[in-house]
Order: sequence, then structure tokens, then C-alpha cells
Amino acid sequence: MVGGYAGKILRVNLSSGKTSSEDLNMEWAKLFIGGKGLGAKYLYEETKPKADPLSPDNVFILMTGPLVGTTAPCASKYAIYTKSPLTNTFLDSYMGGYLGAELKFAGFDGVIIKGKAEKPVYLWITDGKAELRDAKDLWGLDIHETDKQIREKLGDKEVKIAAIGPAGENLVRMACITVDLYRQAGRGGGGAVMGSKNLKAIAVRGHQGISVPNIEEFVKLTNDIMKNDVLTEDNLWAKTDGTPGFLQMVQEGGILPTRNFQMGIFEHADDIDGDAVKKILIRRRACYGCPLGCGNLTQIKEGPFAGTLIEGPDYETLALGGSNCYIHDLGAIAKYNLLCDKLGLDTISTGDTIAFAMECYEKGLITKKDTNGLELTFGNVEAYIEMPNLIAYRKAIGDILAEGVKRAAEKIGKESNRFAVHVKGLEFPGYEPRGSIGMALAYATSDRGACHMRSWPVNDEVFGDMDPFTTEGKAQLVIHGGIGQNLYCAKWSLVVCDFYAIGWENIAKLASAATGWDLSVDDMKLIGERIWNLIRLFNVREGFTRKDDIIPYRILNDPLKGGKADGHVVTLEDFNKMLDEYYKLRGWDKEGRPTKEKLKELGLA
Ligand code: SF4
Repeated sequence: MVGGYAGKILRVNLSSGKTSSEDLNMEWAKLFIGGKGLGAKYLYEETKPKADPLSPDNVFILMTGPLVGTTAPCASKYAIYTKSPLTNTFLDSYMGGYLGAELKFAGFDGVIIKGKAEKPVYLWITDGKAELRDAKDLWGLDIHETDKQIREKLGDKEVKIAAIGPAGENLVRMACITVDLYRQAGRGGGGAVMGSKNLKAIAVRGHQGISVPNIEEFVKLTNDIMKNDVLTEDNLWAKTDGTPGFLQMVQEGGILPTRNFQMGIFEHADDIDGDAVKKILIRRRACYGCPLGCGNLTQIKEGPFAGTLIEGPDYETLALGGSNCYIHDLGAIAKYNLLCDKLGLDTISTGDTIAFAMECYEKGLITKKDTNGLELTFGNVEAYIEMPNLIAYRKAIGDILAEGVKRAAEKIGKESNRFAVHVKGLEFPGYEPRGSIGMALAYATSDRGACHMRSWPVNDEVFGDMDPFTTEGKAQLVIHGGIGQNLYCAKWSLVVCDFYAIGWENIAKLASAATGWDLSVDDMKLIGERIWNLIRLFNVREGFTRKDDIIPYRILNDPLKGGKADGHVVTLEDFNKMLDEYYKLRGWDKEGRPTKEKLKELGLA
């Protein structure tokens, strides 16, 4: 018996309004496991090459993995898989909360959505059945109100809901999807893909169980892993501090994005760091089956933003919505976080885009005529707090910024592309590569643009012993490191949370125990590499080549100011050296295309 899977895929054709279910392709499951692997496989096979991401031709997939919904610790995650409207690359974007487990309990491993509904709808999935329901009266509502009204309509408080807000409806390219109010598939514009399909929300409720081949052995294994590998020093930071605890470490390393990546340290970091967030903490929140519970439910107690209640802000929001915009009022950042959550905006890309606009304003490239009269300077809370609304509703300069920094710079011109900080159109997360050169390679080769969740050399270069300024060993680290691309692929095929630092051995043990297949460490390494290469094939098919695997002008040319990396750039020579080595180690040609031999070796040819 193969365990871990519900065994069914739900198909939804929004154009015809029909839903159907089919058996999960078990041949593919064995080759790609689930989550990132299966999501990528279905997307690769079913998306027309060069499809417009915001057209009915784009395919939108929700996929879980064999551990989701079981007793395995931190295996609560699931993701959307689609073609990104921000980057035109493959996109996977992971969510926490309970919806993934609920989908399995409803009898489905994944949902494949195609076409476009004539009118706004939401998808209601429960216990092996699915239907599209009218969402006319929900269109235009923010995500919190949408969530409330769907719960009322369904008369079930326990239903799990993924929804978009006005940003997704208005096809803002950095629109996110929010689950159960506080958890997001943030990056890459999945919310705009849902908006383009007139799909306002997905609501799920299930009551079935998940079988594994030997329940006693499985529980014994997961208990052992919980005790000896999860609740340990490597992961307990998530339980005690959550991600805000990173801020001081990143500041000390001199890689905290500040003033649109002009500086690597923030003079007001103390106002927005982990200790500051602890002062507004109400309680911790966890995803399904997670003993770490990294979520901080917080409330601002005083000042103009008193009463603001959010789960957050997490490190990325503090960095990109805080220091990068030169904002050090924690209340304002919390309010920004809440606005983004309700409007359905990715706090990382939105923060970077506001910071980019602030620099444009200070350089005189845009004026008050463009900003609705706002004095859009770095650190100006009054203007900053208006920006999420302008972007989500595409008002004034918000209409241009809603396209992301790459397209905004193309429209604004006047060499603003020199400080538009992105890779392939995806704005940078919170780690400055001029003080962690491996991150330059990690961002450039990431499958969805600048992303810290494909490989994270910061751990070795800034928090560990590796030299953060030399190129030696960085290609190896990015591909094969303990937080490298291949391991991430395997981990996200199961799907295990990013914050549990799981190693290959437990990946193999858990995958075997859940499915009943005898999967060794080498098998899982091969599967991880296979997934990464399949996604590379997707991006190559979309026209991406070596010229796109590049870091932005600012990182290559403008010396960083302040902190340990003061004066550093990543030279083109160093960057190309790492990239050549990376392609060679990957078994790709000089243009970054997987060779026939490599594809054969991975069973992809
Ligand atoms: S560590 Fe945090 S994000 Fe990960 S599963 Fe636990 S609560 Fe969710």
C-alpha cells in the first residue's frame, strides 16, 4: 500500500464551470513525491509554453505532499504553482496554517484550476466534492471581510479559506493570497493569477483521515524526530523569537537592506528588532502539527496606530517594509503589514517597491503630481502608510508601482533601472549580497527570481565561518549546502516547513515511512536534483537564458554604505566566476541549459 496521499486530484475548469476528480498520477508521485515536485510536473505538462500569466491559458495549481496532514512535525505547508505574472518564470509560493491538511482531509492531494470564470466565483471543496459558488458580492472586499462572509455563508467556523483582496482583483503583479487571515503565499503574484481568473477564494473543509503503511512505526518515528531533531537548538529560535530575532543578527552582519539597498545597517534597528516585537506580543500561533509555533500575534499598544492587531511583523516585513523604507515606527510597520494582509499584497515586494519610489522621489524622477500630493521621502510615515492603498487600487503612481520595480523602472526611465533591485522582476528579500556574495548566486539562479528560500548562504557566510566576500565554494554551497537548492526541493516535495532545519537522513526516513516506498538518502538527493532541473526546463522553455541569471546594477556597481560590508560591490568578474562554476556543477551548458546527459541521468529525457 502507498500511504501519505489522498490519491485524488481535483480539476476545476472555470470557463465551463465544471469540476471533476481523477486519480493522482502515482508514476509521477514516485518520481517527484509531491508539493514542489508534483506541482512543477503538472505545471510543466499542462501549461502552454509562453502563456500569458494573466490569461485563461495560465494554469493555477494548489498542491500538498505526502506528509501534510500526518503527525510529522512542521509538515503543514502546501503551495500554489503557476506561471508568475511578475517574472514570467515558474512560481511556487508556500503557505502555512491549516488549509493544506484540510485539503487532504477533504480527499484531495491537489487542485488544478484552468480557464477563467465569466463572473466572480469562489471554490468550495468538501469531502470529495467541489462546486463553484457566486462571489459577486465578495468582489471588492478586503481579505478579512471576505473570510468572514464566506464563513457565515457556509455556516462553519472551521472552514479553511485562501482568498485574494483588491490587489489580486486589480491584477497587481505582487498580489498575494492570504490563508486564514494571517498566512500568505506572498511572492510572485499568485493573487493576480487568481484575480485574472475571477476566482476570489478557495474554501475547504474535510473529515477524512490520511493512511500510512504502518501507523505505529510512523508515530514512533515522528515522535523521535520531534524530540531529537525539531525541538533542538537549530530550530528553537522559531519558538522563542520567531523571525524578528534575525534583525539584529542581519544588522550585525551588515546586510540589512536600508534606504532601498543603499546601506547595510540601519541606525534605528533597535526600534524594530526582535526585542521590540516581543514588547507587543500577545501570544504565539502555530500552523497545523507544528511544535515550533513561530507566528507572533501582536498588537500595537500606543500611538497613532494603537489597536493594530496582526500576526507579525516577521523579519522580511520589518526589513523591506521597515529599514529599506527608512521607517522605524513599529506601529507604522504593523499598520503597513495589516494593510498588505487585507488588500492582498506581498509585504516584501511592496516594501521594496515603495523604497524604490522613495528614491525616485528624492532624486526628482517623480513629484507630488505623481504621488497624489504625498511627500514620498524615506522615513515619512504619513506617505508610507498611504502607499499600499495606492498600489492595490492602482491610483496615481500606484498604477505604475503595481507592476513591480522592474516594469516601473522601464516606465519611469531616467536610469531608474540602476536602483531597481530585483532578479528577473522579483524584488529582493532581506539579505544584502554585497555582504554575502553567495546570496548573489543564490538570487541569480533561483527558479522564481530573487528569493532566499531556494538557498540561503547567509547562514554560512554571515552567521557561520565562511568568508562572505570570496567566491570559493559558493556554487557548491548554493546547490548542495545544508540550506541548498537540492535539499529545498526535496523538503518542499513532502512538504516540510522552511524553519525546521531537516537534513537528508530524516527527509528520506519520513518520505519512506509516509509512502511505504524504500527511499534512501541518495534517492531523495536525486529527486531533489530532478525537481530543480525540471523547473529549469520550464524556465528555459519560457525563454530564460544566462543573460537573465544576473544580479542588478546597484549590487554590481554601487558600493554598500555602512557596516561590515562597507564599500563592497559584487564584481561582474566574481559573479561570472561563480555562475560558470554553478553551471558546470549542475551539468548545464554555458547558457544555463541542462545537457542531454544530465537529463538522461535524472530520468527527464
Ligand atoms: S515554524 Fe512557523 S511557519 Fe513553520 S510550520 Fe511552524 S508555525 Fe508554521
